[in-house]
Amino acid sequence: MSDSAAFDLGFDPDVLREKYRTERDKRVRVEGNEQYQQMQGDFSHYIDDPYIDEVINREPLTDTVEVAIIGGGFGGLLAGARLREAGVKDIRMIEKGGEFGGTWYWNRYPGAACDVESYIYLPLLEELNYMPKQKFTRAPEILAHSKAIAEHYKLYDNACLQTEVTEMKWDEASALWIINTNRGDAMKARFVVMSNGPLHKPKLPGIPGIDTFKGHSFHTSRWDYDYTGGDATGNLAGLKGKRIGIIGTGATAVQCVPHIGESADQLFVFQRTPSSIDVRNDRPTDEEWFNSQAPGWHQHRMENFNTLVSGGIAEEDLVNDGWTEIIRNLLLLMKIEKNSNLSKADLAGKMELADFQKMEQIRARADTVVNDAATAEALKPYYRQFCKRPCFHDEYLETFNRPGVELIDTAGQGIDRITETGVVANGIEYEVDCLIFATGFEVGTEYTRRSGYELYGKNGQSLTDNWSDGVSTLHGMHSRGFPNCLIMGNSQTAFTANYPHALNEQAKHLSYIINHALESNHRVIEASEQAEAQWVETIVKMARMGERFYAECTPGYYNNEGKNEDRNPKNTNYGGKSMRFFKMLEDWRDAGTLEGLELT
Ligand code: NDP
Repeated sequence: MSDSAAFDLGFDPDVLREKYRTERDKRVRVEGNEQYQQMQGDFSHYIDDPYIDEVINREPLTDTVEVAIIGGGFGGLLAGARLREAGVKDIRMIEKGGEFGGTWYWNRYPGAACDVESYIYLPLLEELNYMPKQKFTRAPEILAHSKAIAEHYKLYDNACLQTEVTEMKWDEASALWIINTNRGDAMKARFVVMSNGPLHKPKLPGIPGIDTFKGHSFHTSRWDYDYTGGDATGNLAGLKGKRIGIIGTGATAVQCVPHIGESADQLFVFQRTPSSIDVRNDRPTDEEWFNSQAPGWHQHRMENFNTLVSGGIAEEDLVNDGWTEIIRNLLLLMKIEKNSNLSKADLAGKMELADFQKMEQIRARADTVVNDAATAEALKPYYRQFCKRPCFHDEYLETFNRPGVELIDTAGQGIDRITETGVVANGIEYEVDCLIFATGFEVGTEYTRRSGYELYGKNGQSLTDNWSDGVSTLHGMHSRGFPNCLIMGNSQTAFTANYPHALNEQAKHLSYIINHALESNHRVIEASEQAEAQWVETIVKMARMGERFYAECTPGYYNNEGKNEDRNPKNTNYGGKSMRFFKMLEDWRDAGTLEGLELT
């Protein structure tokens, strides 16, 4: 890059590229996913459910239902809703938590909210005739909406809450799944939908001494309001007079740190990698605007957003937020140059420039908001915006101006160890009364380790064995050898920033298939060997497209903790545009031939 070009842009891309590389290299750890501690054995109390008022007592079940849905989050709820709409009556929801809501049941920490726009994030808005209160909805509203969906579609009927699946076995003779649970159930189901959630299993850092800490501690996904006081809106009166340490600065920490900082006497925020903190600009819903939307608006808005965030072109940007801004910038660049016939390489170059520009803006925000120059510098993210989950918040950065709040930046190294009384970082011990782990969830580990139960398909083969070489499915939904089992999730299917959109498309698809099988009196559906092999080949081929981008990213769960080269391409998402994948599923259903499935 010439000096004058760098001057025009306000930054030198070569310098930034080099800075991104050195920041990334500091953070790469040989252990990758192995650096984390599972919550089992002495650590299992971290996943106890703190939200149950009353433990349900019931006899073990051995009855049979047509469809069992595992997981009462958005995926399970959407599957239940679409199956009900298709006319399926005999449905049982099975959920570990005491209520529907999934991730929003567990994640009730102060400040929890969704920063994907509520008008596209909340499912079934037209069906329930529901107007979200704000552009960005808060966790309690999402939990309430989850319950409303369950009520609207009568999913409480026959549901098993507070019930954790421990194992599933396919019984060849009866062509039924036998589902064992921690309640002693051995219930049976003709079809099983598995919607375990992609961020279901919280993790701890595998730091020396973590088992020796004698103060209070908990993970953000099991917030201890008995200790902190207050509620999802903050006001954590229990933290008065307390010294708190929080480990992690991802999307969760960004939302709860302002509330802890407001109430605790002292807060140490232990940072390994700063998040990108863009403007949130939340506002109440304009009722008139909302009511003026034409029927079908919800799907249309979701599609518009997805098209834009996956790099496509749309006539207008309906959502018009921080997620779509990078694409707006790109279109602006292209218009200025009056050149829309760009080659792929040119487009990638323009994308990188738009990304640099966006991240420069985010870094400048830290300087503008944070008073202490060194703290502001440490809060600046040096990586491309979509290397990690982008965050949007208007109070997080300000929190570091509070007298009792201190950022303990570890220059990418993480904390050294935990002692009986505190946390050691950069060789210094910080004494705390309470340690909060905002250290996220398992992503790159085996499917059954994350779901918490094994399934045994035909000939008693386990899913873990079957996938020991990598995930193997047709459309991410069917895996040969595991008939009548429909998987909702992330692997080998389209990924979108608005995850409920993908779940809705999966729900429509599986309800079509199950309903078809029930109506046509087919007892067993299974992916054909050839169709599954072809799909896996497609996934592997397409996985290569994003390889360079992720290889150059700072470590995180988007790139297998910096070990992108070790990532089995079979375990990735569909590498094409999500809208293309959804259209492909729709065309498949329209064809009506259930191509690639064997029905008996
Ligand atoms: P993340 O995995 O994003 O963050 C975990 C944090 O813990 C990171 O900052 C990580 O640092 C840090 N960490 C891990 N080990 C150590 C260590 N040894 N020393 C110091 N720090 C350590 O988890 P979150 O719960 O924040 O978010 C998970 C996902 O949930 C998000 O990506 C998002 O998809 C979703 N979410 C969405 C929200 C929304 O819509 N607003 C809100 C909250 C969550 P490092 O980055 O260096 O690995």
